[in-house]
Amino acid sequence: MNIEEIREDFPLLKRIENGKKITYLDNAATSLKPKQVIEAVTHYYEKECANVHRGLHLLSEEASIKYEESHEKVAKFVGSKKEEVVLTKNTTEGMNLVMYSLLNSDFFKKGDKIVVSGMEHHSNIVPWQFLERKHGVNLEYVELLDNFEVDMDDLKEKVKGAKLVSFSGASNTVATTPDLKKVEKIVHGEGALLCIDGAQLVPHHNVNFKSLNADFLAFSGHKMLAPTGTGALIAKKEHLEKFEPFLFGGDMIQEVELHKSTWNSLPYKFEAGTPNIAGSYGLCAAIDYIKKVGYKTIDRQEKLLTKLCIEEMEKIPSVEMYCPKDVNKQGGIVMFESKKLAAHELAMTLSEMENICIRSGMHCAEPLVSKINKEGLARASFYFYNTEEEVHKFISALKETISLLG
Ligand code: PMP
Repeated sequence: MNIEEIREDFPLLKRIENGKKITYLDNAATSLKPKQVIEAVTHYYEKECANVHRGLHLLSEEASIKYEESHEKVAKFVGSKKEEVVLTKNTTEGMNLVMYSLLNSDFFKKGDKIVVSGMEHHSNIVPWQFLERKHGVNLEYVELLDNFEVDMDDLKEKVKGAKLVSFSGASNTVATTPDLKKVEKIVHGEGALLCIDGAQLVPHHNVNFKSLNADFLAFSGHKMLAPTGTGALIAKKEHLEKFEPFLFGGDMIQEVELHKSTWNSLPYKFEAGTPNIAGSYGLCAAIDYIKKVGYKTIDRQEKLLTKLCIEEMEKIPSVEMYCPKDVNKQGGIVMFESKKLAAHELAMTLSEMENICIRSGMHCAEPLVSKINKEGLARASFYFYNTEEEVHKFISALKETISLLG
């Protein structure tokens, strides 16, 4: 598929506002959705709308089959077993599921250590802070080097005695992608569990859970073409069998008596209540779409655009970037600031003037971003449907905005 063909599938790219197209460069926040995904969701609501696992009628059976198939599809997509796929609403829920399941299973004792890196999203900080505050667990941060890569020597030191290491597979701010093979060896070498925040990893890289050999991998469907409210936690079967559930209620049980219950088989033990059934239809369609495009095309296009954007930004004297300039060391994100204009003002003006959508602020990674600039930074992030023309349009609007207001 070429990029022009691909763009035909995304209705939002055809939207005209004030006579101008939308230039969407906020893909790290959420991706646009192709018509195949929108149609899959509509198909559920129009043709097969019923609850799953609860009815013997036609609609419920159809929806249940499709919902169960979505676990299989995700499993094949990330190279895991079907029982290892817990559908969630996003990465954040996946991280909380890990935290609460470990907590409910008395995995942590007072004084135990959890290690994260210095570039984490709030969803990989705040759940562990809760354990720190309520249960006396210590949270430690691995330092970043000057080029924003994770300091592996510091990881080797901090991992000593840790029970869990939770790392982002790709940063949503400074864009670096740690060498997860090395991280896995170091972490498991010390006997700690490894949790990977895959929110910015899975949409852009072909991930195989088995060879990654992490204990947990959380990601969001909505950042990879699927509807909002979709995501998955992939967890080693041995852990899901052993650990207590996070949410309790309908569907996650096998038998309920007045004072005790037994749990459903995997992965449903971890999926309480009515799930996002429509979302699971959309998630299947999104996976089909990504497979059709292929990670080679995704990677090629993202690298092309990121390289172009970095090269063009380097020519703007008042702009400073906070991400690796080598596109092989980063994940399609250009984090930057203008020394002349606050990030929020820049983002607002680009939107008002040219319908260009970029993000500004703390990017849910306040400890890191506020250290660089207390007022926040600006971010352009790419996906495979973006074009070189869009990058040029963004760069020339950026130059114009800075010269007008800066
Ligand atoms: N981790 C990273 C690295 C992210 O970029 C994001 C989303 N910005 C999240 C976690 C949280 O994802 P969600 O909001 O879908 O839970």
